[in-house]
Amino acid sequence: ARDSLATATPGRVTLRDLRKIYGDDKTGTPAVKDIDLDIEPGEFITLLGPSGCGKTTTLRMIAGFETPTAGTIRLDDEVINKVAPNKRPMAMVFQSYALFPHMTVFDNVAYGLKLKKLPSARVTEEVETALTSMNLGPYRDRAPHQMSGGQQQRVALARALVMRPKVLLFDEPLSNLDAKLRVQMRGEIRRLQRRLGITTIFVTHDQDEAMTMSDRIVVMNVGVIEQVDTPQEIYRHPASVFVADFIGRANFLDVDVHEVRDDGAEVGVLGKRWSVGKHPAVAAGDVVTLMVRPESVRLSATDSREVGGSVGRVLSSMFYGEAIEYDIETEAGNLVVSVADPHAHETFTQGDFLDVGFEEGRAWLMPVAADTP
Ligand code: ATP
Repeated sequence: ARDSLATATPGRVTLRDLRKIYGDDKTGTPAVKDIDLDIEPGEFITLLGPSGCGKTTTLRMIAGFETPTAGTIRLDDEVINKVAPNKRPMAMVFQSYALFPHMTVFDNVAYGLKLKKLPSARVTEEVETALTSMNLGPYRDRAPHQMSGGQQQRVALARALVMRPKVLLFDEPLSNLDAKLRVQMRGEIRRLQRRLGITTIFVTHDQDEAMTMSDRIVVMNVGVIEQVDTPQEIYRHPASVFVADFIGRANFLDVDVHEVRDDGAEVGVLGKRWSVGKHPAVAAGDVVTLMVRPESVRLSATDSREVGGSVGRVLSSMFYGEAIEYDIETEAGNLVVSVADPHAHETFTQGDFLDVGFEEGRAWLMPVAADTP
């Protein structure tokens, strides 16, 4: 059965050579540098990156609040660069909720429909449907200040959805909520999005939020897109050192490259030869680094008493309950190691010598671009 709040048809958003320079076109530095992106109908896509990377600017261009300096934005097959924000079939949910403080919940949600000059009986019907669907029925006559942050954010969502947009836009919507509620709202927004099948573009700098909610993540850095892929692919097969470092934690090892094939590589590190995965761009002779996630490092006791080859030494350990984390000194550099379920494993203490290895299938050889440190 179709949901009572479902949109008619989810939109497809296409960005081509999209650029934004604030201020003087000739002398200004681009906040967004000629990006291409295809957002599929019904997809939940997240723009992720550090402060200043251009994610908000990109979202605001899609919404129509900023004018692109160059390039095109398409909704389905229509170029919408010149369409006013309120004429785009899109709705935005803001970090600050942006509710009208002096209006009731009902009037806040009804506002856009009244602007559209819908007959008042229709407005009432639509608003009641939205409030019920979002479990906000009991709050219809409250003012925003009489509600919690999470409830206010739900009102903001209901106000967006009642307009039946083809695309739903979120600008860091969970940043003002406390940690526990933030996690709860992630699930709530994701379930609602799945239920309605609405195309959703979500901006955040929080990698956990991006990882847990998205069909695909767009990782941005200084105005360019570094990678677009599923959370799993981005975590396991990052396209750049920046992405590997920004999403999750990563060890980077200097290795000797023995052989580069299409589907992998042979490298020497930690006193051994390993067969590892590789990024497609890696070719023989390139400057590369081997990425190993903390949970892919393997440790075992050894009789050796000297750091070198496969032997490392524990510099420190931290107990987290569900995992233990070690800092290990090795000849390939210091490694962060995470051992899940500590009760099931032998634990080590500072000063212990260990045999250090990693899961070959999880190690990832990647290019070191000239501009990454
Ligand atoms: P944040 O998470 O801090 O909002 P962001 O990734 O969303 O960062 P943007 O807000 O898109 O980044 O900003 C990208 C660049 O454009 C930054 O260098 C920023 O200083 C600049 N910028 C953003 N808005 C304006 C503006 N209205 N006028 C001039 N420069 C701007």
